[in-house]
Amino acid sequence: RNGWAVFSLNCCYFIFFFSPFSVDPAEQSLLNKLIRHNLVKNRNQVEVLQRDPNSPLFSVKTFEELRLKPQLLQGVYTMGFNRPSRIQENALPMMLAEPPQNLIAQSQSGTGKTAAFSLAMLSHVNPANKWTQCLCIAPTYELAVQIGHVIEQMGKFYPEVKLAYAVRGNRLLRGTTIQEHIVIGTPGTVLDWGLKLKFFDPKKIRVFVLDEADVMIATQGHQDQSIRIQRLLPKDCQMLLLSATFEDSVWSFAERIIPDPNIIKLKREEETLDTIKQFYVVCKEKEDKFSALCNIYGSLTIAQAMIFCQTRRMASWLSGQLSSEGHQVALLSGEMMVEQRAAVIERFREGKEKVLVTTNVCSRGIDVEQVSIVVNFDLPVGRDGNSDNETYLHRIGRTGRFGKKGFAFNMVDSQETMDLIHQIELHFDRKIVKLDTDDLDELE
Ligand code: ADP
Repeated sequence: RNGWAVFSLNCCYFIFFFSPFSVDPAEQSLLNKLIRHNLVKNRNQVEVLQRDPNSPLFSVKTFEELRLKPQLLQGVYTMGFNRPSRIQENALPMMLAEPPQNLIAQSQSGTGKTAAFSLAMLSHVNPANKWTQCLCIAPTYELAVQIGHVIEQMGKFYPEVKLAYAVRGNRLLRGTTIQEHIVIGTPGTVLDWGLKLKFFDPKKIRVFVLDEADVMIATQGHQDQSIRIQRLLPKDCQMLLLSATFEDSVWSFAERIIPDPNIIKLKREEETLDTIKQFYVVCKEKEDKFSALCNIYGSLTIAQAMIFCQTRRMASWLSGQLSSEGHQVALLSGEMMVEQRAAVIERFREGKEKVLVTTNVCSRGIDVEQVSIVVNFDLPVGRDGNSDNETYLHRIGRTGRFGKKGFAFNMVDSQETMDLIHQIELHFDRKIVKLDTDDLDELE
């Protein structure tokens, strides 16, 4: 009963989940950028591996300590940054060091990597030299543009520094030599600009940044192009590589690209089910799932909710049904453009919609800390027909130290789904309790 009281108070958000389609990592990353306005909370210790273990390890607690140009310090503060993020505390002194140091940095999306290397590039430019001095490559056009926006914002009070986008569609006259100090683009176009068209001279690059290495290597051809670009650069050019994850494939790529690196790693906070009350709701058949859902929905006077389904078709059917019942529902689905998805999530966050029905597009990477209730209208199933425990955890799990209490409801409409419930219980060693929707009125 106590649990339910908390539930009623907390039930501001509901999560609904869909879709067996694999998510494009570049799109996922863009979506993260579009919807993120703050740092991700992470209390884990930063691991630092210095190339020269005998050199002192610098870390900073304030931006002042970095002795930035006043125009850049002003830019940083105008962006609302009060102090360096956890990863920036260690990464910024290395990125700004003289002589330059190479760095491989890994931390989840939203921990301040882009802000850090943008500041580093801006700091290293000498605006009096009218040629390209910093080069940054990103996996897609959209991601390159996002990084460009950060540099523009941060360099707002330093207008002498100019930026050019080496992305598809940005055509310059043959024979042009660009004067922009920073070039940001995708590997193919950057290679064309530097090698074939000679719009800039790679030998004059002082800082090279490869962002989103994990997304980069997931794209056909990008790995080779990145290596070809790197080979054009002078030996003493500073090289920085950033990645949100660090599988072996990313690691071996990073080692090929970055000579003699320092390494900084920040582990993501583990997700846990400890603060989640998990239930299953037995429905006689498929059609019964909707009425069971309506039972929960009505009884709990939910302010906002998020619901997960397995297919896009199911998601749009469900959102249609809920709307016709008079509920304010938003639909987030894989066929939408990333910008549309970002707008839907934004509206949901602002509380303009009561319920968000979604496919797998938003299961990963999206911060749902604010969501108190998750409904698995369809349970996550792997290709082998067994429960997809990892996805289950991503849908409903919280990062331990910050996690608020939450509730998860799993709709069970067959023996197979019941088996999935048992598998999940076994895997996480946590009980999933049967909920009788007919009793819900009493629970309010
Ligand atoms: P990443 O590149 O690791 O995904 P970003 O650099 O994009 O992370 O930062 C994530 C969010 O946090 C952005 O909205 C950014 O403006 C903000 N941010 C970055 N650094 C700081 C800081 N030191 N203080 C406050 N906010 C920050």
